[in-house]
Amino acid sequence: MELALTTKSKKLMRLCEIEGYDNPYDLLQAVMTDSVSPAICMTEGCDYTAEMEPDQREGYCEACGGNTMMSALVLADLI
Ligand SMILES: [Zn+2]
Repeated sequence: MELALTTKSKKLMRLCEIEGYDNPYDLLQAVMTDSVSPAICMTEGCDYTAEMEPDQREGYCEACGGNTMMSALVLADLI
């Protein structure tokens, strides 16, 4: 039985791809030691990314105009 991927895990995988990491663990390890984190827009169909504060949950997306940017650490439920 396969677990359904949540929107958060799908977006985390997408963010990995865009940032050039093979898997989320590599991405998260890199982010943990940094003061900024890559963030991705949570809107379906919008994959805009930007560097944001690691605890960002509702950052402004310059592509679709929503407060929909979420950082990698929040996506992974680490904070
Ligand atoms: Zn967007």
